[in-house]
Amino acid sequence: GASDKGERWCIYQVDENQLVQQKLKLAADLRRALMNNELSLYYQPQIELKNNAIYGCEVLLRWQHPEIGFVPPDDFIPIAESAGLINDVTEWVIEQALIQHKNLLELYPDHKTSINISAQDLIKKDLPVQVISLLTELNIDPTTIIIELTESASISDSLAANQVLDDFKKMGVKIAIDDYGTGYSSLAYLSQLRFNEIKIDKQFVMELEHSKRDQTICKTTIEMAKSLGALVVAEGVENENVAKILRQYGCEIAQGYHFGKPMPFSDYYQWLQRYQA
Ligand code: C2E
Ligand code: CA
Ligand code: CA
Ligand code: CA
Repeated sequence: GASDKGERWCIYQVDENQLVQQKLKLAADLRRALMNNELSLYYQPQIELKNNAIYGCEVLLRWQHPEIGFVPPDDFIPIAESAGLINDVTEWVIEQALIQHKNLLELYPDHKTSINISAQDLIKKDLPVQVISLLTELNIDPTTIIIELTESASISDSLAANQVLDDFKKMGVKIAIDDYGTGYSSLAYLSQLRFNEIKIDKQFVMELEHSKRDQTICKTTIEMAKSLGALVVAEGVENENVAKILRQYGCEIAQGYHFGKPMPFSDYYQWLQRYQA
């Protein structure tokens, strides 16, 4: 009856409030985390499929919360974005990643490091200047750095965002379209932005062996990327069979648990030292 409905509405309200409270607390905690060494970077290998050589790695952010424990980036990145903290987070990620990249280059002179940025970072016009001054300071070749960008409605029609991407391009820093196929109007995005790589999202790769539909999607994306002069990175490669299929399709680079999970820097460094193609 009516009272029933009222009660349910009440419970829903309480849950919503709790969720909002939780997010506000996490946002406050994240502000502190930035200063307290709770954030760290993990490194996941990327492999060239033609010869199993090292291509480079993707840098993935981790948060070890002192009370809650591990908080996944899919949970806290959106909070960082809505709390206005993402620019500070990204700045921290870029600085740490470039310092470590310098060490990786000594081991593998061609090593590429891919760094995720948020659409909101592209509104910050001085981001390319910050990156170039770090690259200069560390004496790093800009073409060894790749910025991974997830498609979003706000980017393709934003002048400021295009300006930032343009500046990166002039510096020689490369751009990857991340999570390809999952977001908002993918083709419009591809048509408007200049990019060097397309990353096929793991949702199209993980079941590749068993799904004819995913096979068609991957094959077509790889062909399109080739025609556009872009490299393809397939994410979520979990076994050799999937790697083999992707190789047949002409996909250049693979990333996934089959080759290596994301790991702390020291582990990745050792992994690289021991790696044999
Ligand atoms: P993403 O950019 O799509 O990153 C790939 C995700 O797939 C990572 O999840 C990675 O651990 C996972 N993955 C890689 N290979 C496999 C596999 O073979 N199997 C499975 N099941 N998963 C695999 P992670 O590290 O949890 O990151 C989630 C998302 O958080 C990232 O998705 C990215 O959107 C975001 N993120 C992570 N680090 C950063 C960062 O520094 N800045 C920003 N803005 N976003 C970040
Ligand atoms: Ca990514
Ligand atoms: Ca991403
Ligand atoms: Ca993805």
